[in-house]
Amino acid sequence: MLRFSAFDEANSRNNPEIDFISHKVSDYYAQNVFTDDKLKNYVSNKVYKQLKECVSNNQKIDRETAEHIAQGMKNWAIEHGAKSYTHWFQPLTGLTAEKHDSFFEPTENGKAIESFGASNLVQQEPDASSFPNGGIRQTFEARGYTAWDPTSPAFLMDSKFGKTLCIPTIFISYTGETLDFKAPLLKSIEALEKAVLPVVNYFDKAATKITATLGWEQEYFLVDEALYNARPDLRYTGRTLLGAIPAKGQQLEDHYFGAIPDRALNFMIDLERESHILGIPIRTRHNEVAPCQFECAPMFEECNVAVDHNQLLMDVMEKIGKKHKLKVLLHEKPFKGVNGSGKHNNWSMSTDTGKNLLSPGKTPKTNLLFLTTFVNVIAAVAKYSDVLRAAIASAGNDHRLGANEAPPAIISVFIGKALTHVLNDVAEKVSDTKSNQLLTEDLKLHIHNQIPDILLDNTDRNRTSPFAFTGNKFEIRATGSSANCSSTMVVINTIVADQFLRFKTDVEALIAKEGEKKEGAIMRVLKNYIIESQNILFEGDNYSQEWADEAEKRGLKNVRTTPYALDFWMVKENVDVFARHGVLSEREMEARYDIFNHNYLLKVQIEGRLIGELCVNNIIPAAIQYQNNILDNILKMKSAGFDTSMYKAQSELVVDLSNHLAQVKSNVDAMIEARKVCNKIEENAPKAKAYCDQVVPFFDKIRYHADKLEQLVDNQLWPLPKYREILSL
Ligand code: ADP
Ligand code: MG
Repeated sequence: MLRFSAFDEANSRNNPEIDFISHKVSDYYAQNVFTDDKLKNYVSNKVYKQLKECVSNNQKIDRETAEHIAQGMKNWAIEHGAKSYTHWFQPLTGLTAEKHDSFFEPTENGKAIESFGASNLVQQEPDASSFPNGGIRQTFEARGYTAWDPTSPAFLMDSKFGKTLCIPTIFISYTGETLDFKAPLLKSIEALEKAVLPVVNYFDKAATKITATLGWEQEYFLVDEALYNARPDLRYTGRTLLGAIPAKGQQLEDHYFGAIPDRALNFMIDLERESHILGIPIRTRHNEVAPCQFECAPMFEECNVAVDHNQLLMDVMEKIGKKHKLKVLLHEKPFKGVNGSGKHNNWSMSTDTGKNLLSPGKTPKTNLLFLTTFVNVIAAVAKYSDVLRAAIASAGNDHRLGANEAPPAIISVFIGKALTHVLNDVAEKVSDTKSNQLLTEDLKLHIHNQIPDILLDNTDRNRTSPFAFTGNKFEIRATGSSANCSSTMVVINTIVADQFLRFKTDVEALIAKEGEKKEGAIMRVLKNYIIESQNILFEGDNYSQEWADEAEKRGLKNVRTTPYALDFWMVKENVDVFARHGVLSEREMEARYDIFNHNYLLKVQIEGRLIGELCVNNIIPAAIQYQNNILDNILKMKSAGFDTSMYKAQSELVVDLSNHLAQVKSNVDAMIEARKVCNKIEENAPKAKAYCDQVVPFFDKIRYHADKLEQLVDNQLWPLPKYREILSL
């Protein structure tokens, strides 16, 4: 049986040889990246300066400059063994995509040259029809364009077929609408900078640039390739649709920060090395709560580059996994009853004068900048929490949010005792009338002294909160492990940008109308925001039922499933905020709404089909075979003259098996009927809701009985690798 041969294969693996001691990381770090330093060696000083100026002013790069850069990039790539190049982009499938072209070009004299110019660098034309477009693409304009993103460095991807120069690009339709995760991210970063800089200039006149920073933490599972291949559900849906919880599982919680198994460690070291070559600054590695679950996290970077690096890391993980005969599971909930995986997004903003805007200062004056940023972020989340909820919605994440292990579907913000105290002080003590001179001194805003060092060290926190302040950044913990970080980042950047604009308008209105001093105006406006966003703050246990009840009283939304959370995209206020900042137009929002509903629908449709197939083709036959074995035994006992009481247990087993078999069968049949009804619906959004309400509830019902059968049937006859086998490395 495949299950047993797979198990044997998994247990006879030898770790592949990896090179991890011969060099220092600094010797090969970013070796395959066309970094600024390398660019300088391949183009003139003038071209380099021109490029940097365009990038920092968000200006278009002229043709001539692009031509020089293309030549430099090509020369570097070819010198390092690349034969082809690709525009690397992030379509709304959630994966990365590539369109490869060769550098080589035949010439008239029958020879060939390596050619690559500005036109190849700047723009390409992949077939947009093979990527989701949400109705934006008409058949007569199937074309889509990828366009170079000069803010993220090109890199060389190594494979057994040779090296390829990868150029990070955005992906847009023929008519200019964005079809990817990167274009809106770049726009949101620009919007954030535009809105935040003037406010920062109140406090720091020298600052000329604001950078959004992101440090993600990626959780994942590792399972053996052979066992993975023996589980069709893992292969086709990324999660186990069936499977009983093992006797020794997570209950012991001895895995967290425990010793990393050799095989996993070997994989991690290899992954880190490959990541470092690609300039991904991975730093930490450790076990997670669940068996076979791990995490890696880099040093934080500028938001756009960090997003690219996370997408790249997910690709690299798969590649390195192959070498180690391991499958990397990025699904949010691969195993029932075992902790799921998330992708924490640590977010902040910094200035080109070296300040982290969310780092509490040492003096009351510098604290005012911190307080301004802090309160505005909270106010933004309070106002637009539903868009954040929409951004983290996916079929996979539905299993996490709301289960008692990951943040709930209710968005709230945790800030800790010390800062709660500070905010309460401001809300109580700042007066509503003019002149609050020396206010920051009066209020003793020595925030730095009030926050315990332990919090600044980033070790103390409320791990149940979806949006937690962790000393000098906010940690958004509800993003799914397979998601593109951009989906969360676009939202946070945009809503914070919007909030900062509002803040500036409010402060300046007070100054103009009442002749209020700037500091006084700032404090009064912040006070209002604190009062207005009080509802979003929560310090307690987010997993508890009390919180769900309390949140309801506060009017916070608790939407547990994707198709309903996605509806938040189309709320007028939300459409307006993205449009106002030029991040996404209404049409682009509609397209995304449609695509994300479609993605959800496809996922649960495939899951439904597979559950049915597994039950009918694998589970039911195994149960029947076992039942027949027992019946044979009963007949033999009978003919040997034993009393019925002697095979009572066997008879009971036969009945139990029959009952669960009947339940599996009838629920699978009913699910198929429900699917037929849903499939008649044409539009994606209502169809997704129908699947969610009518089909998905069968998954658990079927699983309950199938898992009971797993626990009853003779181990030797059970066809699918069991949890205890998959979850052992
Ligand atoms: P955890 O305790 O949540 O596992 P980690 O130390 O693993 O914390 O991760 C913290 C993450 O926060 C790292 O990826 C780190 O780079 C990131 N980080 C630290 N400072 C900032 C900042 N100013 N902006 C964005 N991310 C940051
Ligand atoms: Mg974390």
